[in-house]
Amino acid sequence: MPFSSLGLSPALLRALVEKGYLAPTAIQTAAIPAILQGRDVVGSAQTGSGKTAAFALPLLQQLADAPATAQRRVRGLILVPTRELAAQVGEAIVSLAKYLPRRVKVAVVFGGVSINPQMMNLRSGADMVVATPGRLLDLIDHNALTIATAGTLVLDEADRLLDLGFGEELGRILGLLPAQRQNLFFSATFPPAIEALAASMLHKPLRIEVPAAVQAEPDIVQRAIEVDASRRTQLLRHLVQSEGWSRVLVFVATKHAAEIVADKLRKADIEAEPFHGELSQGKRNQVLQDFKLKILQVVVATDVAARGIDIAQLPVVVNYDLPRSAVDYTHRIGRTGRAGESGVAISFVSADTEAHFRLIEKRQRLSVPREQVAGFEPVQTGESPEGAPASNGGIKGKRPSKKDKLREAAARGQQQKE
Ligand code: AMP
Repeated sequence: MPFSSLGLSPALLRALVEKGYLAPTAIQTAAIPAILQGRDVVGSAQTGSGKTAAFALPLLQQLADAPATAQRRVRGLILVPTRELAAQVGEAIVSLAKYLPRRVKVAVVFGGVSINPQMMNLRSGADMVVATPGRLLDLIDHNALTIATAGTLVLDEADRLLDLGFGEELGRILGLLPAQRQNLFFSATFPPAIEALAASMLHKPLRIEVPAAVQAEPDIVQRAIEVDASRRTQLLRHLVQSEGWSRVLVFVATKHAAEIVADKLRKADIEAEPFHGELSQGKRNQVLQDFKLKILQVVVATDVAARGIDIAQLPVVVNYDLPRSAVDYTHRIGRTGRAGESGVAISFVSADTEAHFRLIEKRQRLSVPREQVAGFEPVQTGESPEGAPASNGGIKGKRPSKKDKLREAAARGQQQKE
């Protein structure tokens, strides 16, 4: 089915042609007509499914069709969990709105940067606001904007919003929105807390479940390389230098590891930078920008980068440290193989993380053959002293944190759904 049969205006179709989107993805085909009709939608979809355009296109169309008012009013509010996703969604909307007869103003607001420029920008109003919850409430408290006019609310990555502890903020924001509104709810997983939130917000929603095979369109080759934990950096350096990868996103467990590994790669003349939550927003933007522009070959990141970041043509993701949960594994490897491209996801598995990786395989219902690289064959065994149980892979503390428990609950919810 072509985009032209979904009821979109010629100006939007023109932008789609320019972006090179030839046909709608599964979620776009299902969601766009329903949203245009004013229906609530609940979509089970990951990043990579095309969900941003699935909600952005009909929102823009509704905006273009609405009579002009003397002052801009916020008509659409899009809540996202992270700054990076906010910036990405904002950019996507602006590029889709490019040929609309009336200029659409999209304000993107997130924390971690000065609030003043955002307040200044909002003085002349905005048609759409893409926001992380905390900063949105700060701006509302400063009287910089009102969301009482927002006829459409989008929750993007709702599970992640709750995971990150935004539940309370969400409750406050819902109370400030008009009671009569359209709600679009997107989430990768549907654990009980998300189901409950969806049930409380949505009115007779259209439920869209993009089948897993179509959803991520992943042409991702998953590999697992056995290596001693102490030789992982050397192996990484060897692979980066010998495999001819143009760009690699490497996931580690801690900010400290991100710094150390990036530093060691740089010493081997590999253009590498760390990416984690303690860097300033300016630095994070710079790293992402340089990675996108292919100035950087390697980014060594914590899970801050696991969700939502969209880097076209990223051929390789490496799990230097294994993710804590199967859900995180999916998000990490989903950074490659996007929009129909192929990708490789490599996990380093050492004696003490083998059991943890097997658990991830079990949850994912997959079996990844173990490989060894000549010169890096492991010599350590998996036996823990005094029969102690295998650790969780040396990934942060051993005791599950509150976040771990939430993640595990999310993973269980996902399994039940399957
Ligand atoms: P999203 O799931 O919204 O993060 O989108 C994932 C990627 O797919 C982005 O790079 C989009 O630009 C791209 N994309 C979205 N819709 C389409 C489409 N219909 N055809 C081709 N690429 C698309």
